[in-house]
Amino acid sequence: MNSNNIKEILLTELQIKNKVRELGKEISQDYQGKDLVLVGILKGAICFFSDLMREMQIPVNVDFMAVSSYGNASQTSGAVRILKDLDISVEGRHVLIVEDIVDTGLTLTYLKHNLRARKPSSIKVVALLDKPDRRLVDEKPDYLGFTIPDEFVVGYGIDYAEQYRSLPYVAVLAPAVYQHK
Ligand code: 5GP
Repeated sequence: MNSNNIKEILLTELQIKNKVRELGKEISQDYQGKDLVLVGILKGAICFFSDLMREMQIPVNVDFMAVSSYGNASQTSGAVRILKDLDISVEGRHVLIVEDIVDTGLTLTYLKHNLRARKPSSIKVVALLDKPDRRLVDEKPDYLGFTIPDEFVVGYGIDYAEQYRSLPYVAVLAPAVYQHK
């Protein structure tokens, strides 16, 4: 990986760590005594999910879903498809969807609709990043790490063409990287 491909670091490791700790504390207080299932959305949420899980101060169950997203393009298609479904039942339980980024909001609309059919007691969303400028539907995460400008970001689990996920920070990718493809 060429470090020239990174335009700027938007969120440092420390900023992320502190925020995830705060979120873990707040969510733990809100779900005290409740049967909570954290549903991580693969693959972008992997780092956020595993850090948040370890900041939880109450017992939780964990499971994952994978949905189709950007592929190799930096624009959303709007089409959402389940590539991997939950292994466990969420009926009668409290579901917290753990997402990397809310952008147009279409993925969240689809996921909530899909999960609602399984009759959970509640469905809420925690997202690490929110790009409200690009919203096409009326969706808002219930818990949020950071609001960011409309720029294409990578790192901390978030990829471009399956690269950059292992960066420990969130960075803005230099537009030249995806414009020349
Ligand atoms: P939405 O359905 O809200 O438009 O899209 C959400 C998904 O799009 C996120 O979970 C993420 O996978 C992808 N996404 C949105 N913005 C970015 C971005 O800046 N960088 C990358 N790599 N993916 C993004």
